[in-house]
Amino acid sequence: TDPSVIRNFCIIAHIDHGKSTLADRMLQLTGVVQARNMKAQYLDRMPIERDRGITIKSQAVRMPWELDGQTYAFHMIDTPGHVDFSYEVSRSLAACEGALLLVDAAQGIEAQTLANLYLAMEHDLKIIPVLNKIDLPSAQPEKYAEEIAYLIGCEPEDVLRVSGKTGDGVEELLDKIVAEIPAPEGDAEAPARAMIFDSVYDTYRGVVTFVRVVDGKLGHREKIKMMSTGATHELLEIGVSSPEPEATKGLGVGEVGYLITGVKDVRLSKVGDTVTSQNRPAAEIIGGYDDPSPMVFSGLFPLDGSDFPVLREALEKLQLNDAALNFEPETSTALGFGFRVGFLGLLHLEITRERLETEYNLDLISTAPNVVYEVTAEDGEIHRVTNPSEFPEGKVTEIREPIVDATVIVPAEFIGPVMELCQSRRGTMEGMDYLSAERVEIRYKMPLAEIVFDFFDQLKSRTKGYASLNWQGTGQQAADLVKVDILLQGDQVDAFSAITHRDSAYAYGVKMASRLKELIPRQQFEVPIQAAIGSRIIARENIRAIRKDVLSKCYGGDISRKRKLLEKQKEGKKRMKMVGTVEVPQEAFIAALSSD
Ligand code: GDP
Ligand code: MG
Repeated sequence: TDPSVIRNFCIIAHIDHGKSTLADRMLQLTGVVQARNMKAQYLDRMPIERDRGITIKSQAVRMPWELDGQTYAFHMIDTPGHVDFSYEVSRSLAACEGALLLVDAAQGIEAQTLANLYLAMEHDLKIIPVLNKIDLPSAQPEKYAEEIAYLIGCEPEDVLRVSGKTGDGVEELLDKIVAEIPAPEGDAEAPARAMIFDSVYDTYRGVVTFVRVVDGKLGHREKIKMMSTGATHELLEIGVSSPEPEATKGLGVGEVGYLITGVKDVRLSKVGDTVTSQNRPAAEIIGGYDDPSPMVFSGLFPLDGSDFPVLREALEKLQLNDAALNFEPETSTALGFGFRVGFLGLLHLEITRERLETEYNLDLISTAPNVVYEVTAEDGEIHRVTNPSEFPEGKVTEIREPIVDATVIVPAEFIGPVMELCQSRRGTMEGMDYLSAERVEIRYKMPLAEIVFDFFDQLKSRTKGYASLNWQGTGQQAADLVKVDILLQGDQVDAFSAITHRDSAYAYGVKMASRLKELIPRQQFEVPIQAAIGSRIIARENIRAIRKDVLSKCYGGDISRKRKLLEKQKEGKKRMKMVGTVEVPQEAFIAALSSD
């Protein structure tokens, strides 16, 4: 295809502003999906995406569009909407020349829209502003057109008004894509270079890799090379999605399509990497390559210990399709065998856990999520701590924690509550801008650890659901942090150790000690529960002794009842965990970890 008739674009939108619905309408108007085959959210194929209405994996669709007798080839690249997947978002944007900035005409701009808009501007994309859902009675297109115009520096009249639902305005939008988004430019004669912006595992076809060709050409059966690793593969199939896969002879400058090489693991075909040809390799990788590293770690344990192998297998399967997921086995006195799993963020954690529970039928308990700390021990060695158990023994000289730039957008009436919340989470205000008379953007620097623990829920409840949040990591910063241990009769209970700010250590210790006191049954001897920082005890509770003899409950003769009780007691014992000499039902640990 001649690059001059190609238009590559993505849609930037806050969740629920109608991206999938608009994409459906475009598929229909361009004729690639017939009305009778149309099902809502055509491109959101993973079941979890349908359930949650979010897009995890991007997809690229080729659509023809005719204007003034010329047929154009559109490639629409669907970007993941959530901050956890920001590296994938940035790669998807890098594959485009333009972006539709889609804003719900009844809601206005939200934090994720803004974050992705800034990213798109950094990539020099042509922005086409669009107000969606103008069919809604509550739509206020005049008001929000002004907000958008002010933000991107255009006239309010330049903001298109459409309804993805009724199709109103969508044809004009397609025409505008031709007129305003630049055609791709690249060197057709140069060695082939294609950037990977998505990579998904398909049970039947193995890994399907989505690429945007920048220079040269990739052809069927060609030997290709991954530039970050040097790994080589043969192209078994190359093609375009429209939106069903269609094999082609090759892909040239500016084209967007998929490659299949028969590999079975997405980590061999990583987002951000550059594909070149083995015979005539390019010299330079496109735009640099980043390995997205996990930001949040949590222990995942099966409730039923015999499910451990199932959990391992399930994690391995998920990893085939999720290069950012990593895990290693972990053993806990309280919870048994499980895995320490690294995630890009909280949503990534939630999605993974939900998939493990629904798709693999596992009952899981997860330990409190944990960010990555850099701990300098007295001997000068720096420990990377993703689990409180890795905290070095003895004195430490410095603890550094990840810091993020957080952006909150709210109606102006909620400025007070938002500031209060951010301040209570150790935030420092960086700035505040009015987007319009009623809506403000508030910027804070905050420790990631403070956002990881129910910050978003708090934010929502203090702003009646109006606030939107986005954050981006900006490095590590020293803080007054300590490790709090929970001890049962002097023995540490691993799953309950936590790294907290010194100011919250006492509250954490008191909370966990009193919670465990409620949940752990009395033993034949007194059991102290303590919270400690190093050797210093900061909180203490006592479980009083009891003579535990269930048989004394049955007076006299009924032997079969006694036997039943004995058996029951034995069964219960199986699920008991020993911490030192203290016997604790696993349920107590689980309950203590789950209630919040
Ligand atoms: P996404 O999260 O951006 O992909 O948003 P969806 O396309 O899933 O849409 C979110 C909700 O808004 C769904 O309930 C849609 O039916 C609804 N919606 C999307 N576009 C329109 C529109 O133009 N008009 C109206 N009234 N509702 C819409
Ligand atoms: Mg969607």
